[in-house]
Formats: sequence, structure tokens, C-alpha cells
Amino acid sequence: ELSKKKAHRHPRWVRVNTLQTSMSEQLATTFAGYEKASNVQEVQWASASVKKYFEDPHIPNLLALPPKVDLSKSEAYANGAIIFQDKASCFPAYLLDVRPDDGDVIDGCAAPGNKTTHLAAIVAERNMHAKRQKVFAYERDQIRAATLQKLVKRASADSVVTIKPGADFLAANPDSEEFADVGAILLDPSCSGSGIVGRDDSIMMHLPDQAMGASVVTCKRDKKRKRDHTMTQSNNSTTLHMGLDDVIPEETPVEGQLAERLTALSTFQLRILTHAMRFPKARKITYSTCSVHFEENEGVVFQALVSEIASVRGWRILPRNLQVQGMKDWTQRGFLEPEKLDPRVDLDHLQKKAVCNACIRCEKGTEEGTMGFFVAAFIRNAEFGFDSN
Ligand code: SAM
Repeated sequence: ELSKKKAHRHPRWVRVNTLQTSMSEQLATTFAGYEKASNVQEVQWASASVKKYFEDPHIPNLLALPPKVDLSKSEAYANGAIIFQDKASCFPAYLLDVRPDDGDVIDGCAAPGNKTTHLAAIVAERNMHAKRQKVFAYERDQIRAATLQKLVKRASADSVVTIKPGADFLAANPDSEEFADVGAILLDPSCSGSGIVGRDDSIMMHLPDQAMGASVVTCKRDKKRKRDHTMTQSNNSTTLHMGLDDVIPEETPVEGQLAERLTALSTFQLRILTHAMRFPKARKITYSTCSVHFEENEGVVFQALVSEIASVRGWRILPRNLQVQGMKDWTQRGFLEPEKLDPRVDLDHLQKKAVCNACIRCEKGTEEGTMGFFVAAFIRNAEFGFDSN
């Protein structure tokens, strides 16, 4: 029944960069003459010539526009006043909800940097009178780190963000003096990318501006091979990458190979997550993927929750009722695929249900207009010195 339904079109999501401008300023300039829509479907089905915007009710400073609207030549885009970022990709920085007393922040897997600049904007908005907070941005891949550098500068986030180009987050020493004040960590590690819009059903436009990890400038459909090519431009050369992350190869439709790939990916994702749990002052973590697979999502969350470091440090999942308003209101939640759950996860049925309800999912091709996405947040228990509120 569902497969017969036409998938909803993907709106063009635009985040207003509060490091440079405000929603009201953008509505009066870049979007002057645009009419306010009362729901996202109104823009989802509109043609590019229709000047309509919808202000997102979950994420502050986010607009949806008709899918084919081309703002890539606008001054606001060129200057970094607006950023093309899928709604779902805005969830992690918003859910992390960094406050002035959270201290410094790490983005462990940062390029191309949409979540980094979002984090920086949130930190700067709230930190007017408090002690200066830093955002450390790790990126292992040198080419992507160059893109990260460019996007951070364009967004005017460079006074907040310290980039660690070519640096492996797993090699970052949690006990080093530099991280003594790190209270919040955002993790968006490499994944299968199975939630990306266009991965299987349409041509990706402006790939870099969506949520994924390739340092992409343009994206072309290879008609013969029915795959998306992404191109990275550095200096005068153009490099062609397959898929979103050239460190880990493209997802394959072959079942056996997919299972192997998911095992390799989830092992790596769990290492990233449990490494973050070691930072002594950390009290908030978000973990996200643009994957639809249980193994990379709830599966990793469950394993992290029963890990030794989680129990030693008192990490637990941030329940829905303690989440920031827009995330509390979001109705698509995690789910359990019991046959895929690691047998070492010895939680009872109610605990498993609570964990799944704390997890946030986005489904692609629905009337919400997002890509496929997953995010969960972790906090430290009050008895370990940190309050959840
Ligand atoms: N958060 C980014 C954004 O919103 O623009 C997208 C991140 S992408 C899904 C994952 C990135 O993590 C890739 O650029 C990859 O090179 C990087 N990465 C993977 N493993 C890493 C590690 N151990 N340390 C630092 N970066 C890593």
C-alpha cells in the first residue's frame, strides 16, 4: 500500500545563519515578496516560480522553500547568511542544547561542517555575556577538512570554531588539558548514507548543502551506472568521489555485503560514541547518522548504554520528556528490531521501549519533507555530579 503512494517531494531547506543575520532580516531581504505558507506541504508541491516559504515549527531559524528554488546564486548564500541544510540535519545541534555553563564543545566528525556552524551559531546566540566557549571540530580527512575550513569561514564561525584538520577524534586524549572544559560533544560519524534523499530515487541537487560528509561542490547523475557522483574541487583540480564518504565504500545492494558493511560501520560508530563518553567533564552527547538501518542507529545506542564506560561514568539516554521542545514534539521515534539487537544488551522490555522512545527518527519521502535520519542524546546522571535539567 505504502509503495503505491507517491513519495513526497523534498523541499529546499534553508537555515538562517544567526552568526550573521536574523530571520526577520532575511525575510525582509532575500525573501522579500515571498508569501508565508501555513504548512510544509504547501511548499513541497509548489513549483520553483512560486515565492512561498514555511517557517519550521520544530527548529528555530529554519525555512522550507519549494524543492527546485535555486538560491545558490543569491548574495545571502554566497556570504554565508543562509545555509542549505536539511531539517533533519539540524536536529543534532539543536538537541545538544548547549548552554553557557556547558563549557567547550567538540564536533567529532565535522566536515563539511553544517552541524559545526549550527553549533557555533547556537553557542554564540546564548553566550553573549558568559565565558567564551570554543567548538573544536575534528575531521580526519584532509580534503574534507579544507571544505570544512571554507564553510566555517563563510559562515563567520571561525572565531568560535577551532578546526583540527586531518585529526582523528579517536586519537584525541580525553584527559588532555585542552579538553578539560569540554561539556558537550556532537557525533555524526560516517554511515551507510541510506537515508539520503536521491540515494535511490532522484537526482541529488546541491549535495554539499544537504547533510552528508563528502566535501562536495557539485553532484552529477551517472545515467549509465545510475549512481551519484560527487565532485570535490580543491585548488584547480577536481576530484571525483563515489558516494558521501570515500573512507568507507558505497553501500552495495547485495545483502551479504550490506550485512558485513553494517557490522563494520556500527563497530566504528560505537567506538566513536564510547570514546566521547570518556571526556571527564562531558555531560551531553548527541549521536546521529543519515542511515535508516537499525544496526547503525538504535543498535549502536543500546550497545553504548550497556558499555562499561557508560556505567562507570553514569551515562544514560536523554528521555523524550527532557528534550528541548521541538524534539519533544517530534513524533517519529526509534524502534526495536529484536533480532538485530546485540544479545549482550540485557535490558527489560520497558527499558528497551523507553530507549526507543528517546531516539528520534526521520523518514525520507514523507509529508515532513526530511531526509532519512537518526539522532539520540545522552546525559550524565545527577549522582555523577551532573544534573539532567
Ligand atoms: N557533521 C557533518 C555535517 O553535518 O556537515 C557530516 C559528517 S560525515 C557524516 C562524517 C565525517 O566524519 C566525514 O567527513 C569523515 O571523514 C569524518 N570522520 C570519520 N571518522 C573520523 C574520525 N575518527 N575522526 C575525525 N573525523 C572522522
